Parts: sequence; structure tokens; C-alpha cells
Amino acid sequence: GRPENGDELRGAAPHAVMIPQPAQGHVTPMLHLAKALHARGFHVTFINSEYNNRRLLRSRGPGSLDGANGFRFEAVPDGLPPSDDDDITQDIAALCLSNTKHSSVPFRELLVRLSSGAAGTPPVSCVIADGVMSFAQRVAEDMGIPALVFWTTSACGFMGYLHFAELVRRGYVPLKDESDLTNRYLDTAIDWIPGMEGVRLKDIPSFIRTTDPDDVMLNYDGGEAQNARGARGLILNTYDALEQDVVDALRREFPRVYTVGPLPAFTPRGAELDAIGGNLWKEDASCLRWLDAQRQPGSVVYVNFGSITVVTPAQLAEFAWGLASCGRPFLWVVRPDLVSGEKAVLPEEFVHGTKDRGVLVSWCPQELVLSHPSVGLFLTHCGWNSTLESVCAGVPMVCWPFFAEQPTNCRYACAKWGIGMEIGSGVTREEVARLVLEAMDGEMGNAMRVSATAWKERSRAATVDGGSSSENLDGLIEFLRAGCV
Ligand code: UDP
Repeated sequence: GRPENGDELRGAAPHAVMIPQPAQGHVTPMLHLAKALHARGFHVTFINSEYNNRRLLRSRGPGSLDGANGFRFEAVPDGLPPSDDDDITQDIAALCLSNTKHSSVPFRELLVRLSSGAAGTPPVSCVIADGVMSFAQRVAEDMGIPALVFWTTSACGFMGYLHFAELVRRGYVPLKDESDLTNRYLDTAIDWIPGMEGVRLKDIPSFIRTTDPDDVMLNYDGGEAQNARGARGLILNTYDALEQDVVDALRREFPRVYTVGPLPAFTPRGAELDAIGGNLWKEDASCLRWLDAQRQPGSVVYVNFGSITVVTPAQLAEFAWGLASCGRPFLWVVRPDLVSGEKAVLPEEFVHGTKDRGVLVSWCPQELVLSHPSVGLFLTHCGWNSTLESVCAGVPMVCWPFFAEQPTNCRYACAKWGIGMEIGSGVTREEVARLVLEAMDGEMGNAMRVSATAWKERSRAATVDGGSSSENLDGLIEFLRAGCV
């Protein structure tokens, strides 16, 4: 059909094709970047997996993939066999392998179609590929389309992945045997990763915690990080002041590092783009009204372990009783698939006993929750998006890292930024209660609140005119417009 007005206007616009790993923590920041580019005149094609597009239609309703002028959704299959329940977090290792094996061909066909003009879009000028979807980078460059990598985690996490190979070469990894997970071995100081003074083996992304040299994630994420060296540019959702030493070290190795975070700050608001969202679960916004009704600012403990973390029934119970015994109002997001292999069920007595001060929902609009004045503490798994959202909102954290680079983020939150306290992996109700109370009322809590407020201000400063991320975003746009040369 005839292009709509916006498309006509964007006829000469650069066209960015953006492909996140099909997981919540990747889709969200890629969508923020996509909206930021769209707002600056880019035509955007945003590629989800077919599986996630079905989920988006369910969570956000019909029309949620219609896009907007100059903003279109497309899909490629992830290659995984259909599952019985198609509204759950997919296995990440399986996704990595499957995407690499099965998504290249459909992605290439899509790029051919988009480039031919048959889809009514301007020719593709660049591909922005998730760092852990390097097949997309290869396909694009093979076709003569410049590709940049967006590594969606922290810079410190990326630096960790970048050194997997060196950790193996120096003999730290794989672990000699399982007991290294519980003896002091993971406390070994790693003092040679540039820009990461003071880290220990346990702070390196968790995929090193294996005795198997052929472990999928050890090899996959390590390899993908190396792969970013071949990209035209490396985009990171962080800002310089937050991870200065690591970012400086990365800049010595990568010619073009665009630190453009926190990305939500660059996402324009407005009816047209607000209709485009990436939450794979249906948001329950009723909790915002409950937060409104809480009289005391900073009184609520917000608990959410993100989209992938799974806990055992015993761990779920420890968190529950820990929250119960500290007597604070709480908002706890319990995903339907939070307990692996079974429905997450909280002890009846707990639900009944805390019903006056506790709210349980299955998915919430997290950025709005964190910036709500009633929220005083975030009990988090330290996923990078959650961490950064907490930093931006100035909310201190109690950290229970689960996997991937969450331990790295946790280390930075606790030891470098002074805004977090860590719960040991063998979580107990006593520890949950003790840390929550210390973080809410104790001296440590006061200190964390002061630091968190300072980081909130620095996060804002990075994204206002003249701020580092703002300038880097301008630089990125200039580079993309110039054809990435
Ligand atoms: N999120 C949300 N509502 C929820 C849980 C999570 O909006 O109830 C969002 C959260 O704001 C974040 C993302 O989902 O942007 C989760 O990403 P993160 O990197 O924190 O963790 P992951 O899910 O990848 O482990």
C-alpha cells in the first residue's frame, strides 16, 4: 500500500534493524534504544522471536505489534520446539544454541526483504545486534550492512565475560571439582582484569562456576563477548561515572564504545510510542494504587527477582517468612514460573498473616514502582536492568544475585556504589529480616540512602544535555548516519 505520511517523511531516513536476544532483560533495553533512535528520525525495524511476539500480543493486547510511523515489528523463529506452556521464560542456554543454529537463515531472508524495499521501508542502513546474538552481526556484515553490538548488561559484566578465555588459560576455570563451589576457592582475588580492582572469582559472571570445560554458557558468553571486537561499535546501557574504571579500560581495547545509559531517560513519552511496549507478562498496575495509599514515604519493601530467576520452594518460604518477620509493608512480584517446575505457592499462613500490609502480584510496571515515593528498598536479583532502574530511582538494594553477571552487578552495588547489601546464596529467613531491617532503619541504611540519592543525581546528569551519555548518544547517531565509517 501507499506509505503513511510518517513513512514518506522518513523515506530518506536511516533504517536501523534491531534484534535483541528474545529474553525480557534484553528486549526491554533494546526497545528503549529503538525508541530513542526513532525519536531522532530513524526508521526502526524491531525483531522479536515469533514466540515472544505471541506473548506480547497476549500481554499487551491486539494491536500491540502494529508499531507506529517509521517503527515496525518483525519476527524470526527461535528454532526451539514448541512447549506445552507458551507463556514462560525459555531456557537461556537452549535459546543461545538454537538462535545461533536456526535464526541466521530467516534473519538473512528478512534483511533481504527489508532491503528490497518490498516491505515499504527505506533500505537498511545498519543492524544493531544484541551482543549475545552475534549471528545477526555476521549475517549483516556478509550482506555489506554495517553491524554494531549492543551488550545489554553492565560494563563490569561485559568485562567479566571478556575475560572468560583468560580465566581458562590461567587455569582458574573450569573448577577442579564441585567442592570449589562451597570451599573458599571462589574468594580467590582476581587482580588482573583491567578496571576491575578488588573483584574475586565469585564476582565474575556465574557461568565460570562449572567443572565442565565444554559448558555451554561458559563457552557461549565468553565467545560472544570476544565477538564484539569485530563490531563497528559497542553500545552499553551504562554511564561513564557509574563504571568509570571499567569503561576506561574498555575504551583502551575497543575503538568505539558508546555508553548511552540509563536508556530509559532517552525514551520519549507520548501516546504513539507508549503504545509500543516490551513486557512479556501482563502488567498489574493495581499495585501502584496500593503504593499511593501508603502514607509513609520510603516505607515499602519492593521484592522482585526479574524474569528468569527461579527459586526452590524452600527458598520461597525463607523469603516469605523473612518478610513476614520484619513487619514492613511489602510489594512482592511472584511470577507464575518463579518456582522451577511447579506453580509458586506461598504458605497459606504467610499470605493470611500479612494480608494487611503485603501485596502479591505476578508482574508489575517496575520502573513506575521503583520511582514511587512509597518504595524505600528493593530486594532484587541484581539483573542489570533492575539494578540500573534502582540506581536511577535512588532506591537502595538488598541483593540476592542468581546467575550470569548478577554477582558482578551485586559486587559493584555493594562495594563500589555503596547502595547494596548482599544476602548469602543459602538464604535464611533470619538473614532476610536482618538485612531488610538494617537497610530500612540501620546505620548502613542511612549511608546507603545518601549514596543512592547521589547516584540518582549522577544518573540524571549523564543524560541531560551535555551529559556523557547524551553526548555519546549524539555521537552514535552521527556515526550511524554517516554509514558507520
Ligand atoms: N520487570 C517489570 N516488571 C516485573 C519484573 C520485571 O517491568 O514485574 C522488568 C524490569 O523493570 C527490567 C526487566 O523486566 O527492566 C528485567 O530485567 P533484568 O535485567 O533486571 O533481569 P532479568 O529478567 O534479565 O533477569
